[in-house]
Amino acid sequence: MSRILIVEDEAHLAQGLRFNLEAEGHEVRVIGDGAEALVHLLASPGAHDLIVLDVMLPGRDGFDVVGELRRAGEFVPVLMLTARSRPEDVLLGFEAGADDYLPKPFELSILLARVRGLLRRHQWMRQAVEAFGADAAVLVPPDTEAEHEPVVFDGKTLDPKALELRVGTMRHHLTVMECELLRYLMRHAGTAVSRKAILEDVWDLHEDTDTRAIDNFIVRLRRYIETDPANPKHLLTVRGVGYKFVAEPD
Ligand code: CA
Repeated sequence: MSRILIVEDEAHLAQGLRFNLEAEGHEVRVIGDGAEALVHLLASPGAHDLIVLDVMLPGRDGFDVVGELRRAGEFVPVLMLTARSRPEDVLLGFEAGADDYLPKPFELSILLARVRGLLRRHQWMRQAVEAFGADAAVLVPPDTEAEHEPVVFDGKTLDPKALELRVGTMRHHLTVMECELLRYLMRHAGTAVSRKAILEDVWDLHEDTDTRAIDNFIVRLRRYIETDPANPKHLLTVRGVGYKFVAEPD
């Protein structure tokens, strides 16, 4: 069982989501106002395993809510609901610190799959296995445990279980998708991977997504792992292709 907060002002949609997420065994709370949601979230850190966050809200909009949360050091996974008519919302959402997004209107089955994806990527995998039973065994690849072991490169440590990147005495907290992206690039170290491949493999997005969404994540990761983010040695841009991770630069 996971604890999910739905921040959505369309009561009908919110209740439909609550009903279906509860049917999957989750504990669900609904708040219909952005400002109220933010007050609640900041007052109860760690109280939720996932947030489904609408963009257009009374009080504060979804970008404000996720941005404030990240600034406050809250790294709970956030699935953002955006308007299909505003593709720029996807970029703004990722920039503000969202982990995944879904354009409205969406198929319920797709939302539930995205929720499962974000939850299973997080450290609460055991709860997810309890909630989904045998299904989870199919969803979780057998090598997942090994994939969650800390990885050391160039004197830095990525600890996926703690969602933490340790550089010297500095500890940087990562969001789930920052961590997933970095692990993906590390698995393909020395090879250029395209933005499209990243969106498909890391986010499981096959729609026509603006691939610049990735660039915001790279900018954030460079701030953590590069001595000089403007002159990167680990996360290189490969012109016309995408990005390449170099573990031990010369
Ligand atoms: Ca709304």
